[in-house]
Amino acid sequence: SVVNLISEVCLFFWVSVCFSMHLTQTAIQLSPYSGEKATFSVGGGQSSPEGEDPSVSLFREYLRLKTVHPDPDYDAALRFLDRMAEELGLPIKKIEVCPGRVVAIMTWEGTNPSLKSILLNSHTDVVPVFQEHWKYDAFSAFKDAEGNIYARGSQDMKCVTIQYIQAIRRLKAEGRKLMRTVHLMFVPDEEVGGHKGMETFVKHPEFQKLNIGFALDEGLANPGEAFTVFYGERNPWWITVHCPGSPGHGSRFVENTAAEKLRHVMNSFLDFREKEKHRLNTSECFTLGDVTTVNMTMVKGGVAYNVIPAEMDVSFDLRIPPTVNLQEFERQIKQWCKEAGEDVTYEFAQKHMNQNVTSTEENDPWWIALYYLHCRNLTLEKEIFPAATDSRFIRAVGIPAIGFSPMNRTPILLHDHNEFLNEQVFLKGISVFERLISALASVPACPAEA
Ligand SMILES: [Zn+2]
Repeated sequence: SVVNLISEVCLFFWVSVCFSMHLTQTAIQLSPYSGEKATFSVGGGQSSPEGEDPSVSLFREYLRLKTVHPDPDYDAALRFLDRMAEELGLPIKKIEVCPGRVVAIMTWEGTNPSLKSILLNSHTDVVPVFQEHWKYDAFSAFKDAEGNIYARGSQDMKCVTIQYIQAIRRLKAEGRKLMRTVHLMFVPDEEVGGHKGMETFVKHPEFQKLNIGFALDEGLANPGEAFTVFYGERNPWWITVHCPGSPGHGSRFVENTAAEKLRHVMNSFLDFREKEKHRLNTSECFTLGDVTTVNMTMVKGGVAYNVIPAEMDVSFDLRIPPTVNLQEFERQIKQWCKEAGEDVTYEFAQKHMNQNVTSTEENDPWWIALYYLHCRNLTLEKEIFPAATDSRFIRAVGIPAIGFSPMNRTPILLHDHNEFLNEQVFLKGISVFERLISALASVPACPAEA
């Protein structure tokens, strides 16, 4: 179905933009930084290792900044971004959304700044490492003989930050002027839930002022030839079920025990887990984002071998795709608890209810711009993001967002040991973004904007 849609969409774009794009492509190949100073410098005077592409050197420099939890060096990231803004000749605005938590925004004004803008979002923080499991220092950005760059953040998502910056640098160097304004946004704390970052910032007046029409944010690597784009996310529900029961001596058959109820609850949730796992494994077109995952993650209860406890609790991590009716699903949980026995109750530690997905309809102007990539021999696969990103906050305020980290032929290693990205894949991603940003910023004014 995807292929049918593409042929029509592509034809339209082929006629309208491919000629100019072709010229752009040629220009890139001949002179990547035409229009810039003769000595293209990255790293504030630091020179690139011999033969290395300056974009790769810049990427490795950024990877060495220790923006790692629990105590990220955000100041180092902000200093780096200040320098980038200066090199790009773009204004940079910083908004402290929470104490010590700053969102930075570089803005490239379009030729028609009254139109809705394009947001290029990336987070600056990375998750901790277990250094003993790494082949190299996780913050050295070591590059092996195959060009694989090892570092925390190489996939999630410092690659995308530098790709955005370099794509803008190239577009500017080529003298391109884009119609819509483009904002590059750099947010803190995504890896700890975004509460002091994007979640707070989307409610800030400065966010509204950006007048965003469409957002790009992080995606995931794809081990095959294709690139994955994410148009929605599953909703996380963290739930604890309380199973109270009659206490008593461990030598008797006490009626109405907590453990009997606990067993019933566990069976209901885990039977459902089996069904969903089966659904995923037997359908060719399903990915993890299309089914509900259930994992029992905590059990509490009991004080001694010979004492039947008065309560036992069990906790589950559920991730629910946007296609599920959440009210009905909660009724199901209520039913499981009721069947488990008297006074079994549940409570949520986290319960996300936002089911906004970004349109991938063939007549959606933003989606057409994305699918233009497909004409350029890139295969795109649409998926629901299996976990959570800052995109959920953007979609929740009604802005369409697509998660896209252009990494094909790459194992999914985010948050894993020995996270790496190959330099050729990284460099190709810059060209991909160059085309995509230019296509998005050229999306004609919709009737509401005119
Ligand atoms: Zn991320």
